[in-house]
Amino acid sequence: SYRKGGYHAVRIGDPFAGGRYIAQRKLGWGQFSTVWLAYDTQSSKYVALKIQKSAQQFAQAALHEIEVLLSIANGDPSNSKCVVHLIDHFKHTGPNGQHLCMVLEFLGDSLLGLIRFNRYKGLELNKVREICKCILIGLHYLHGELGIIHTDLKPENILLFSTIDHAKDPVRSALTPILERPEGGTLNGGSTMNIIEKKLKRRARRAVANISVRRASMGGEAPKSARCLDGIDVRCKVVDFGNACWADKQFAEEIQTRQYRAPEVILRAGYSFSVDMWSFACTAFELATGDMMFAPKSGQGFSDDEDHLALMMELLGKMPRKIAIGGARSKDFFDRHGDLKRIRRLKFWPLDRLLVDKYKFSESDACEFAEFLCPLLDFSPEKRPTAEQCLQHPWLNLRSSDQNEMHGQSNVDVGMSNLQI
Ligand code: ADP
Ligand code: MG
Repeated sequence: SYRKGGYHAVRIGDPFAGGRYIAQRKLGWGQFSTVWLAYDTQSSKYVALKIQKSAQQFAQAALHEIEVLLSIANGDPSNSKCVVHLIDHFKHTGPNGQHLCMVLEFLGDSLLGLIRFNRYKGLELNKVREICKCILIGLHYLHGELGIIHTDLKPENILLFSTIDHAKDPVRSALTPILERPEGGTLNGGSTMNIIEKKLKRRARRAVANISVRRASMGGEAPKSARCLDGIDVRCKVVDFGNACWADKQFAEEIQTRQYRAPEVILRAGYSFSVDMWSFACTAFELATGDMMFAPKSGQGFSDDEDHLALMMELLGKMPRKIAIGGARSKDFFDRHGDLKRIRRLKFWPLDRLLVDKYKFSESDACEFAEFLCPLLDFSPEKRPTAEQCLQHPWLNLRSSDQNEMHGQSNVDVGMSNLQI
């Protein structure tokens, strides 16, 4: 893809925007872009530089994303609404053409990384609550104030961030230990943790000694991919507005990543803000259990769409007939009685029971969490609570004790201690 119309090849140290930004290392990439950590010589901060492929259709998509990001940034001057901030944008001409570039505040690992890091065992419920609050603040801002539907909410598109200023806080920033997860071990097992802490302290001391040298050249060491975050208020932000739309100006019928897709999208019954609420519930479940809520697959004689609808009904109960037959594609899946055409036998397993039986939640944790999630998964999109209403839900302010917390899994939750935020 590094050819005419494709990605722009970047070397470490390359200058952008007349030398304001200096490329440091690659952070990630998507279908349309590569994303680089860059040093902003004007603000002395690290930023994420998203460099779009150059062909016309990618430039068009980037212009749309910039338009959305500009309205997000303009409406939130204090940058407190849990949505990624656009700092700058410009064009960069290279051998493969002209690339639109977005300069975004530098964030950390995604929630998918966090779930993986916890070995798909699920996070403590108290942490899930904190993360949910951030996402809901972001969604309330997008939906309630801007009229924007994200349409691709999922753990990959929610990034952790901390309030540490890497350039201004080089000691903290130096705690970048490149600690690999010990093979087969757990990070919060006592002895391992001690070794890690010692290593961290040694590294920090060494770093402090080196700060003046680094400062002179770079403004602090570039953040690496692992970082000690114990005791830091951890938050997250919603990112990736490449597919976002205004509720009254929609572009696509098929939206959302498969597993996070709402039923009305599968049925082509029209959609609005409540599709993000559905994806939010799927994301919260995944954070708490480590498993995707719905992972549909096609099988003999049925499609992945039909499997998806069957999985939804097994967890949430039968879809009301009116909704089942109400979409432009309903006839592909449902007969006139509102029963699936090809998957005739459903095995019902309600959410609260699933949480107890499969994920070993306590009865009370399971009931409380299911009471929070189920209204968000209403088959009727208008009945789902809004982000604003959801922020009032008592579940967000509950506190589980440490014992309930682990729901039967000891020493698996290593928190954020080795992730980059
Ligand atoms: P695309 O629209 O091409 O999928 P994304 O906006 O999803 O691009 O970014 C691709 C990847 O780059 C993300 O998955 C993430 O790893 C990284 N990334 C994007 N934005 C940031 C950011 N602000 N800070 C840190 N990393 C980021
Ligand atoms: Mg993406």
